[in-house]
Amino acid sequence: MRHARHGLPRAVLVAAVAALDAAGLAVLATAPVLASAPLGPSRRLYANGAVVVETPLAPRALLALLQAIEHDFGRVRRGRRWGARTLDLDLVLWSGGAWSDAALTIPHPAFRERAFVLGPAARIARDWRDPLTGLTLGQLRARLTRTTRAPSAARRRAR
Ligand code: ADP
Ligand code: MG
Repeated sequence: MRHARHGLPRAVLVAAVAALDAAGLAVLATAPVLASAPLGPSRRLYANGAVVVETPLAPRALLALLQAIEHDFGRVRRGRRWGARTLDLDLVLWSGGAWSDAALTIPHPAFRERAFVLGPAARIARDWRDPLTGLTLGQLRARLTRTTRAPSAARRRAR
């Protein structure tokens, strides 16, 4: 959603990347921002991005940092009410393979089915491999695209 200071979702993401940098993470690559339609009835578009960052922080410490940034962005004071969250920062993959505890699972459990994650992420880390399936981000994205197109192609062949 629109942010009182940063403006439209695309600008919120640009500001979020600046916040990652300001927090001491080395931002090695930034994906172009891609728009996606919401799953529900809302007509508002989401802006989706991805970055590769380098940090000595362990996964839980990095998550805490991301959540602090979400908090800074996500709660907009309008009068006396706190508004909805404007920014969601997730850990999709990291160099250490699979990792999980009660509060954090890496790879992110849902990322393989989410075009809005794989689209931007594959633009900057196409060859990064999902330790669970052994597939690269590029392959996972291609698989999603094929899955979406398969039914109509199959119907055409069946006729
Ligand atoms: P979502 O990202 O699904 O929209 P939230 O941002 O509110 O939802 O996150 C809910 C919880 O998901 C977080 O408090 C965090 O502990 C947990 N979580 C588990 N795995 C991850 C991950 N890979 N990246 C970010 N959060 C995660
Ligand atoms: Mg999240």
